[in-house]
Amino acid sequence: MSEEDFVLSTLKVLGESVSPNLQEFDYLVLDLDETLIHTTNKCTKHQCDHIDLCVVFESGKKDVKVHIRSHAYDLIAWCCHNNIKIIVFSAGIKEYVEGICNQLFKDYKPIHILWRHHLIFIKGQYVKLFNLIETHTGVQMNRLMALDDNRMHYQDIPNRVIWIHPFEGVQDSHLKNVISELDKIKNSS
Ligand SMILES: [Mg+2]
Repeated sequence: MSEEDFVLSTLKVLGESVSPNLQEFDYLVLDLDETLIHTTNKCTKHQCDHIDLCVVFESGKKDVKVHIRSHAYDLIAWCCHNNIKIIVFSAGIKEYVEGICNQLFKDYKPIHILWRHHLIFIKGQYVKLFNLIETHTGVQMNRLMALDDNRMHYQDIPNRVIWIHPFEGVQDSHLKNVISELDKIKNSS
């Protein structure tokens, strides 16, 4: 059995053994791109007038312009007020992810930051799993809830994910709805 087949068979087993207590969580795993932010190097004049952050990489050779999704700061504040620790899990490279996190999270920092190196490469794609978070941070899977725009990820425990419509720079209120959803989950557990 190849390593990929082994991982896929493991996923199936994990997916079938979801605990009924899956509502409880004290860590929120946040994706960056198209969930909290949208980055671009090309933008129309109208969009450039609304750039929220500009992250310059240490090499100084490259920078990215970042749109922050509406209510992203409200979500971070919600985590802080509810004592929910934040883990950032992004498919971006280390320099990019750390550069964004340094500017996006000001008063309430993520307790762990994971990047592309921490994903698994299966059938031509980088994939996130709860299993990988547990391996790399030591935080048990049954303490995690994730927010992501890409349903390819977290197939080991899909019931522990809130899926959000991708943010491509046009503001919306989806994160406000996520906060309401998290409130409901938190108060029902
Ligand atoms: Mg994403």
